[in-house]
Amino acid sequence: MKRTSMEWLCIALPIFAIIGGMFGAARGRVGAGVFLALFLGPIGWAIIYFGTDERDRCVHCKGVIQSGATICKHCGRTPFITASAYQKQREQWDKIKDPVDAWEADQKKKNQE
Ligand SMILES: [Zn+2]
Repeated sequence: MKRTSMEWLCIALPIFAIIGGMFGAARGRVGAGVFLALFLGPIGWAIIYFGTDERDRCVHCKGVIQSGATICKHCGRTPFITASAYQKQREQWDKIKDPVDAWEADQKKKNQE
């Protein structure tokens, strides 16, 4: 059976997108990788692969770290790099700053109800 060009497109596009997503993941840009690969195919892969690297990096050792990490896996220091990451961490610390206070406030609320 001979495939039509439409059928080939249906096979090729998801493959392009998956590979684009993988190149994107290596640069912290999965969405952009999929998008570019869908429209540009292998050219999109190249653009994403040689494009900007948006992965989070440790401010101390410049090693690539998981986004949201509080300890750098390369140097063991606290790799705060972006204001938003710092803010997120602050909010979590504030929540657990004083668990006893939080518990007492919770009990008061329950008693009032
Ligand atoms: Zn580091």
